[in-house]
Amino acid sequence: MAHNELRVGIFGGTFSPLHTGHINVVQTVRSRIGLDLISVVPAAQNPHKGPTEGPTDTQRVKMIEIGLREFDFVDIDLQEINRGGVSYAIDTVRDYAKRIKKENLYLIIGLDQFEKLDTWKGYEELLMLTNVIVVSRPGHQMPFSLEDLPAGIQKLTSAFDRSYIQLSSGLGIEFLRLHDIDVSSTNVRKYLRSGRGTDRQLTIPVETFLRENKLYGPLRDRIGDYEKFAKFCGVVLNDKKAINVRGFDLRKMDAPAEFTLVASGTSTRHAASLAENVMRAIKEEFNVHPQSIEGLSEGRWVLLDYGSLIVHVFYDYVRQEYRLEELWKNGRPLDIPAEVKANA
Ligand code: ATP
Repeated sequence: MAHNELRVGIFGGTFSPLHTGHINVVQTVRSRIGLDLISVVPAAQNPHKGPTEGPTDTQRVKMIEIGLREFDFVDIDLQEINRGGVSYAIDTVRDYAKRIKKENLYLIIGLDQFEKLDTWKGYEELLMLTNVIVVSRPGHQMPFSLEDLPAGIQKLTSAFDRSYIQLSSGLGIEFLRLHDIDVSSTNVRKYLRSGRGTDRQLTIPVETFLRENKLYGPLRDRIGDYEKFAKFCGVVLNDKKAINVRGFDLRKMDAPAEFTLVASGTSTRHAASLAENVMRAIKEEFNVHPQSIEGLSEGRWVLLDYGSLIVHVFYDYVRQEYRLEELWKNGRPLDIPAEVKANA
């Protein structure tokens, strides 16, 4: 068969980690749509997110290979990782469109992604280059009438019968109902961090790989005593001239983390630089990155999530608006030494 006669699916995602929901998609699409090949395309890690805990690209690719090894119709395509930067589906689809006839090309996405498809970069061009297969996902409703489709898709639709959208370009969007598996990478990471079991969410080969490589495991193993850890962060903040650094032990409260710290900077730039200093000092001392970082580029409210410790660094003006300390008034205040050298 000539290469461009193959019916090819493109299945992109971060796959951090690869879970049984992803495997269900690949298997069901293969058996129900009968594609010859499914290219799994891991996205590059978002460079704007900053360094967070998790696998390196090499480890992530290895995990995906191990998890999909048994499927001979699956190919793993590293083009997004090799391109680096932010990954956009349009760039990948354009690349496939050079080799595969558009009638034979299918982009595979979950219903959660379909709901925002009209916000994707170049989505109109994308829908001229490829068909789309939308798979069901727990918590998301299949569209029922034309009005349920994202506005940008409605205007490209020539007919819709609930299981298929005929696009005016001649291509189509097909809806495929799975035997749903209620799993997401975010939840699996949470489970792994808190040391809970993941039997239904990860296959044994992937779970074994993660365990052997100590990926997504509890940070506590490296951090040890979280109260000392919180104080260490507080000292770094004081040392860098943060305003009013306060820490709380929230273990007796029903709070998302056991400890929290709040501090502010005199400007958004100062707040961002405080957060960066905390991350750097923690990396040096404990060899840990945050699990997630929010708001660093704006510097209004930067949130560093270290599992059992959440650090909030505000631009002082914004801190006054939220008054988070009010929420923690039943917590035990931590005694944070002032202006001592971080490593003293
Ligand atoms: P996150 O929790 O970070 O959102 P995720 O579980 O959605 O991660 P991704 O790697 O972002 O994982 O997903 C890749 C693709 O797989 C997306 O198109 C997504 O919609 C789809 N997908 C993920 N989990 C499921 C699932 N349980 N059922 C159906 N589709 C899924």
